[in-house]
Amino acid sequence: MSEINLTFPDGAVKTFGEGVKPIEVAVSISKSLAKKSVSGKINGSYVGMNDVITESGDFQLITTSDDEALQILRHSASHLLAQALKRLPKFTNIQFGVGPFIENGFYYDTDNGAGNQVSIEDFSEIEAMMHKIVKEDLPILSQEITRDEALKLFAHDPYKIELINDLPAEEKITIAIQGDHVELDRGGLVPSTGWIKHFKLTSVAGAYWRGNSNNAMMQRVYGTAFWKAADVDAEIARREEAKERDHRVIGRDLDLFFTSQEVGSGLPVWLPNGATIRRQVERYITDKELSNGYQHVYTPVLSNLNLYKTSGHWDHYREDMFPPMDMGDGEFLELRPMNCPSHIMVFNHKPRSYRELPMRIAELGMMHRYEKSGALTGLSRVREMTLNDGHTFVEPEKLEEEFKSILTMMMGVYRDFNIKDYRFRLSYRDPKNTEKYFDDDDMWEKSQQQLKTAMDDLGLDYFEAEGEAAFYGPKLDVQTKTALGNEETLSTIQLDFLLPERFDLKYIGRDGLDNHRPVMLHRGIVGTMERFTAYLIEMYKGAFPTWLSPLQVQIIPVNLGAHGDYANAIQQKLQNAGLRANVETKDAKMGYLIREAQTNKIPYTLVLGDSEVDNDTVTVRKYGEANTSTMSFDQFQKLIVSDVSNYSRVTEATE
Ligand code: ZN
Repeated sequence: MSEINLTFPDGAVKTFGEGVKPIEVAVSISKSLAKKSVSGKINGSYVGMNDVITESGDFQLITTSDDEALQILRHSASHLLAQALKRLPKFTNIQFGVGPFIENGFYYDTDNGAGNQVSIEDFSEIEAMMHKIVKEDLPILSQEITRDEALKLFAHDPYKIELINDLPAEEKITIAIQGDHVELDRGGLVPSTGWIKHFKLTSVAGAYWRGNSNNAMMQRVYGTAFWKAADVDAEIARREEAKERDHRVIGRDLDLFFTSQEVGSGLPVWLPNGATIRRQVERYITDKELSNGYQHVYTPVLSNLNLYKTSGHWDHYREDMFPPMDMGDGEFLELRPMNCPSHIMVFNHKPRSYRELPMRIAELGMMHRYEKSGALTGLSRVREMTLNDGHTFVEPEKLEEEFKSILTMMMGVYRDFNIKDYRFRLSYRDPKNTEKYFDDDDMWEKSQQQLKTAMDDLGLDYFEAEGEAAFYGPKLDVQTKTALGNEETLSTIQLDFLLPERFDLKYIGRDGLDNHRPVMLHRGIVGTMERFTAYLIEMYKGAFPTWLSPLQVQIIPVNLGAHGDYANAIQQKLQNAGLRANVETKDAKMGYLIREAQTNKIPYTLVLGDSEVDNDTVTVRKYGEANTSTMSFDQFQKLIVSDVSNYSRVTEATE
C-alpha cells in the first residue's frame, strides 16, 4: 500500500503519496481551484476536502459552480442547524431524525418534547447561533467507527439508534465531526462551517418519523441555502409568490370552491364562480372533441363490482378504490375508480366493424378514488373527480397514427389555454416490481418501444420514468408543477393491449372475419376538472382570460337612482349576447367599488353616469389598466366578443 492513482474526468492520471487529501490534490492543480472546491469524489463516493483518499480510481473535485455543490452546501446547512439547536439552552436535549438536502433547500426532523417544540418565533435566535458557528469556521471531518461505538455515541438519540440498528451488518458506519457536534453521516459536506454563509430558515411543520403515521410526530424545520445572499433573497421572494398563487388561497379569495369536514374530506363544493370556470372548460373541451370525431356518452358512476374484477382494477387497483356496497340481493355495487370499463361496454354493446374504427368514446366521467387523507389538497388532490376521459378503439396497425392525432389535439388545447410550462414523461412499468402490472413481457417491451418511436418521430423531448405506468400499459404523461412545487400529471395518453383481451373485444376486419382484436388508447386531455381548474387558477393567478372569467363585466352606476335603469338595460343586452355581467348595487364610494372590481380581477368594469346615459355610451376600464376609455355600447360589445373568442389571450396582472 503506497501510491494513490487518481483518474480525472478528462482522462488524465496523476499519482499521489499515501494519505493524500482532496485539498492537496486541488492545490497541486491550482490555488484558485482549491479555493472553490467543495468536496472530492472517489469512485462515485464523497470524500471531504480534508479527509484522506484511501483508494485509487476515478476522482473528481466538485466546485461551487457545479449544481451538485448546492446539495452539499444544503446538506451541510442542515448539520449547522442541528449544531446551533443543541447549543441553545432551550433545545439542549433535542433529538434528531434525518436532515437531508431537498430541492431548493434542506430540513431537519427534530423532537424537543411536547410543549417545547421549535417554532418560527425561535428562528432568529437559531439563525444567530448558526452565524456564530459559521464565524468559528469549524473544520468538518469524516471518520469511520464501529457499530458499538456508534450506538454509544448516539445513545441519547433514540431516532439515530433506530437508524443505526437498521443498517445492514456489512455497511460501514461513518460520522461527520464539526467541533462539538457529531452527525451520523455518509459524506457530501463542505470543508468547514465557514463555507455556509448565506441561508435562511423558512418554515416548520409536523412530520411523522419515517413518514409513517403510526410513528411519533416530529417537527420538521425547513431552510434554504445558497452561495450568494442575493440567491437566498430571490428564493424567499419566489416562495412568497408561490403562496399568493396557491389555488386554495385564490379559491377562497375569489369564492370559487370550498371543502369542509361536514361535506366530507376531499369532496370539494364548486361555488357559482368556480362552477362557471369549470362549465367553460367543459364546453370548450366537449366542442373540441366533437370536432375531432369523438362521440360523447353518459355512463353510471356506480357499476357492478364484477366489471372491475374483469378489468383487473379489483386486483391491481383496489387500495385506491372505495369499498363495495353490498346491496343484500347478491349484487355488489362499486363507485367507479375509472371510466374505462364503462366505455368498453359501449364498444361491446354491438358487433363492430373496422369501418367504425377508430371509435372514439368520450365523457366527462365522474370517478371516486380513495386518496389518503394526508394527501388531500384543495382541488388538486380529491376523492371525487370528473375526468375529461376518452377511449379510442383502433386497429393495431393504426395505433401510432391515432396516438399522434391525440397528441396534436392536446397541443392545440395547450395553445388555447396558453399552457407552456410542461414536460413529457414516458411512464414505463417498474422492471423490479412486475407483479404490480399485467404479466406479458413482450407486450410491455413492444408497447414501450412504440411510444418512444412515436415521440421521436414527432421530434418531441421527453424523459423516461420507470414505475409510473398504469397496470395495463405504458403511457405518455404531461407533467406540470403546482404553486407548492408538487409535480402533477395534467394530461395522459395510455396504450392498452390488456383490457381488449380481458373483455374479449372484437371487430370484423377488412378480411370479413369477426375475430380481430382492437387496441385501446385511454386519454385525458385537460385531465380532471378539479386538477385542471386548480392548475388554471395558479397559472393565471386568478386573473382569468375573459372567456373563462366567472364575471366578465362589472357595471357600476354612479348613482343607482339616476343611472340604475341604464345599467340594467346594458346588463340585459350583454346577457342576451351570452356574456356574464353584473350591476353593482352596493352603496359605497366610486373609488372603492372600482378597486374592488380590480381586486376581484374582473376583466371589464363599466362606469355609467349622466354623460353615458345621455350619449348612450359606456366608460370602460380593463383589468390591470390605469386608463379608461369611453365608447358606444356597440363598440364595447364588439370589443368584448372578440376578446372572448380569443381563448389564449391572457389578461396580464399589473398589480
Ligand atoms: Zn381509461
